[in-house]
Amino acid sequence: HAKNYRKGSYTFLTPHLKTQTLERIQIETDLRTGLEQEQFCLHYQPIICLSTLKIVGFESLIRWHHPSKGLLFPNKFVPIAEEIGLIHKLDIWALKTASQQLQKWQQQFKNAASLTMNVNISNVHRQCLEALEQINWSDYLQEGTRAAIKLEITETGFWATTAEGMHSLRRIADLGIELCIDDFGTGYSSLSRLHNLPVTTLKIDRSFINRLDEGSESQAIVQNILTLARNLNMTVVAEGIETPAQLAQLQTMNCDLGQGYLFAKPLTVENATEFLQGTLACSLK
Ligand code: C2E
Ligand code: MG
Ligand code: MG
Ligand code: MG
Repeated sequence: HAKNYRKGSYTFLTPHLKTQTLERIQIETDLRTGLEQEQFCLHYQPIICLSTLKIVGFESLIRWHHPSKGLLFPNKFVPIAEEIGLIHKLDIWALKTASQQLQKWQQQFKNAASLTMNVNISNVHRQCLEALEQINWSDYLQEGTRAAIKLEITETGFWATTAEGMHSLRRIADLGIELCIDDFGTGYSSLSRLHNLPVTTLKIDRSFINRLDEGSESQAIVQNILTLARNLNMTVVAEGIETPAQLAQLQTMNCDLGQGYLFAKPLTVENATEFLQGTLACSLK
């Protein structure tokens, strides 16, 4: 909204709006410094196989150690980075960092060889996918992690993709990098468009999982997504599983994978390493 104020379409700024606008301008400036000084970090949320309850991989989620505001979550700065055209730099930083971390875990734990690593990618500007396509993947992805990397692009991001962007996505997929549709169900997918995409995974948006407890309507939606995915030979991840009842329901429906606070919140590197230590030790038994 801040844009409108700057364009002068509002003559009066209430003190609250003034603070908001100033805060926003400050974040814009700080983002550039933050990138230079590597003030960002990744947290890692485990993704779990719902039939075995074993970990299959992680999703990396960006955080910002802001010098004066403390730890910031992506909703505070990702939309701004998107607007000012900085997001692809953050995304490529995250990709490289997540790949390095996965390689560390692979070296540290024998059983970590098959872990996957999901990385979120914005697709709001042409430059996002172009920049991704143009990176030298062997520089960015550590030896042995390429097959494990999955890029998550939101459903709305997918539908906004231009023909050139789609070409970039296919080229990226041809390199062996898997693509997931994130927040699935919130956009307006049609079957015909879905089957033309180089996509291997659908992630059902948290809002549907959240409403699973409420009964048949949301169950029918989730069931339809699962059937659709099966017919298209895609894997499904349920996002935001918070209760045992939601888990049980998804297990009954044979949903492949899930993540959510029921299993683990996004974890710092240290906590994710401990989590791996625990679960990998269990799976050795
Ligand atoms: P997302 O990719 O859909 O990630 C899932 C979000 O749901 C994360 O929020 C995660 O912490 C949260 N979550 C996971 N399990 C649960 C649960 O059981 N209950 C609830 N209530 N929430 C849960 P987070 O980390 O704040 O990230 C928000 C969004 O920011 C992400 O949504 C993603 O779209 C974006 N994002 C995160 N990291 C990056 C990045 O490196 N690049 C880009 N472009 N976007 C990113
Ligand atoms: Mg995601
Ligand atoms: Mg999501
Ligand atoms: Mg999301």
